[in-house]
Formats: sequence, C-alpha cells, structure tokens
Amino acid sequence: MNLQSKLAILADAAKYDASCASSGAAPRDSVGGRGMGSTEGMGICHSYAPDGRCISLLKILLTNFCQYDCLYCVNRVSSNVQRARFTVQEVVQLTLDFYRRNCIEGLFLSSGIIQSPDYTMEQVVEVARVLREEHDFRGYIHLKTIPDASPELMERAGRHADRLSINVELPTPEGLTALAPQKDGAAIARSMARMAVHIEDARQARKEQQAAAQVVSMPATRRTLTRRAAAPHFAPGGQSTQMIVGADATDDRTILATSAGLYGVHRLRRVYYSAFSPIPDAARALPLVAPPTVREHRLYQADWLMRFYGFAHGEIVPAGQGGMLALDMDPKLAWAIAHRERFPVNLNTAPRELLLRVPGFGVLTVDRLLAARRVRRLRHADLARLHVPLQKVLPFVEAADYRPGRALDATDLAARMAPPPAQRKLFD
Ligand code: SF4
Repeated sequence: MNLQSKLAILADAAKYDASCASSGAAPRDSVGGRGMGSTEGMGICHSYAPDGRCISLLKILLTNFCQYDCLYCVNRVSSNVQRARFTVQEVVQLTLDFYRRNCIEGLFLSSGIIQSPDYTMEQVVEVARVLREEHDFRGYIHLKTIPDASPELMERAGRHADRLSINVELPTPEGLTALAPQKDGAAIARSMARMAVHIEDARQARKEQQAAAQVVSMPATRRTLTRRAAAPHFAPGGQSTQMIVGADATDDRTILATSAGLYGVHRLRRVYYSAFSPIPDAARALPLVAPPTVREHRLYQADWLMRFYGFAHGEIVPAGQGGMLALDMDPKLAWAIAHRERFPVNLNTAPRELLLRVPGFGVLTVDRLLAARRVRRLRHADLARLHVPLQKVLPFVEAADYRPGRALDATDLAARMAPPPAQRKLFD
C-alpha cells in the first residue's frame, strides 16, 4: 500500500478523537536559523473534524489495527474496515513534509493497540524521539498514551511531547465495562496520577531553576547557569482526556462530576467532550443516532464555568431536568434565571465571584470592571463602552445610575433571552 493510501485511511481513522487542541504548549520557534518548527505562528493550513472543529495538526493513527474491541470504536478488532499501518519513519517524514509545506503546526499521534500496549507505546514514543532528537523538530507534539504501557515508556513520552493524553473514554466505570470491556478504569486512573506527579515535578524543578538563576547577579554567570542546569521538560502542556458523550445513557450531571474529579484529582489541563458518532456495523448496545452536537457545546460551556467562573459542577445542572443541561440556553444564563434571588449584582460593590456569575460577562470584562471601579463609580454607559451584550446583561446588574426595575421578575425573561428565530438555510 502506498503512503498516500495509508494516509487517507489513518487520518480518517483518527478523526473521531477530539482531544488534540494545542493550547498550553510552551512557545518555541526556530528564530536564529536553528531547528525547525514552531508552536505558534501564521499561515498554517487547518483541517476540520466532521463537526467543524478546526484542527491544525497532522492528526493520524500509527495504525488502525487494534486487538481491543471497544464497541464505540471504528477501529475495534471486529470492525470491518480497511487496515493500514505506518512505520515510524513514515510518520516522521510526513510530519516534516507537511510542516515544510506550512500545512500544520504539529503532530497529534494516536494508535490502535498492536501486539501489546508496550510495543505500541514504544513505536509512538519513537516517532516523537526521532522528530525531536534527529530532526530538531520544535513544533507541537501531542501523544495519545496507552494506560497499560509501562511507566518508563510514559516517562519517555513526556520528555518529547508537549502534551500527553489518556482517554477515559466513558464517563462512568460501568459505561467503560459495558462498552470497552478490555479497558481497565483503575489502570487509566493510575497512569493519570503518575503523569500528574511527573508534570508537577518537572514544573517545580524548572521553577526552582529559574529562581536560582535570578539570584546570580552577574548576567554572564546567570546565562551559564541557565544553560547548564536546564531541568528537563515533561509534557509542559499538561495532560488531557476525552469522554464520549451519548454512547450510553450517562447524563450531563454525571459527566460534569467526572470532569470535576479529573480536574481536581489529576490536575488535567482539559477534558474534551466528543459527541458519539454512529459507526458502520455498530453493536446493538449503541444508539443509532448521534446526540445533538449542541449537547457537546453546552458541556464545553459548563466545563468552562467550572474552570474559570467558580461554578461547582453540582450547581450547573439543575435538579428536575433529568440531569441534563438545557439545550436552548447557555448554562450560565440558565443558572442566573433559576437563581434570580442572587441578582441584581451591583457593579460597584459586588465581589469578583458574583460579577463572574452575571450572564454576558467574561473573565476579561470582569477584570476591566474591577480595574475601572477603583477610580470611579461605574455607570450604565461604562457597560456600553465594554461592548458587553447589553440585552443579556442589563436585567442582572445595577450601576450608579441604573436599576433593572421589574425586568428580573418578568415571567418571559427566559424567552426574551433566547436567540431570535432564524430561517434555516437549505444547506445548513
Ligand atoms: S483501544 Fe482504542 S483503537 Fe482500540 S478499539 Fe479501543 S478505542 Fe479503538
């Protein structure tokens, strides 16, 4: 099979994995003519996942042969799909060639499991090692790791990759047992815990090294110390995971509780939610249709609320909705409408935590408001100057010259906040 055919198969097979955004990488470039690659930059061509997400990485599998039989996966051993396998050298060459053509900013590499978890992981790590050590590749590398692989291989992966991920796959242990019986939830948790320790240790070592460099007064000596004592990187972009949504009956409340646990216990950088895509020859246990993609979108919004807005997972999904997020309204607005007694929030006196709960206020807006109110009383006109969505914000705030009156009590408040109906286009 020629390289192009393999690429067609193994890029297509990788499209179901959503956990590859490149946020969190340390900025690197090839200024000065040394090395190649950059984790940031312009002129990068993007590819798109089937649901429209923009991906600027070469996203491929090393192979779509797999000895496991996860029911939701198109690459499972019992699936009737065409199989292919890259050599390490082929993946390296493809990455370099695509990079030189300015098509990608890095590599996202995953793999089906062949022979054994260690054997597969060894091949995946070797791709990253050759890119980094033999080609001085400075672009972004995200490796999908195999939880059953040895800790030593995981450690080698972390030395070369910007980000590592292990997919938890399903939000509950019961779901994993039912749909991916060969996967071991405890092994996944153990690997994540080990990774978290490595990542934290490396971060700490680099911090201490930088602090030591600061106390050396002679600039030349400081440069030498920095060069000599460089603590090794370990997955500086942290670790992430992916959860499939809608392959089983798990509700949004449980999904968010699992995510909160992953952020808290294993200090994950991101949890990605991937709406289940029906696959050819699917098992009977799987639904025949995909969940609405807006469900995935609402989960991302809720996830954002947990990470940046101080919401606890338990308060985002109200009781009485079958444990599901509303699809017709973003979760922050839904929370505000359900908790009107907490509003209006006074722009001039409310603490940051309360301002963050106002629908239509982002973190940046809140920080600007806090800075502005140090020097003057905030008025209605200040909101307009911040370009916030006034229709959304005004019922929930009060300023020096503004009170929302009865707007907050309106029975049709939710309806007024809903986006206006729009005629669907023929080719939406
Ligand atoms: S181990 Fe990964 S590639 Fe193999 S069947 Fe399961 S999800 Fe698919």
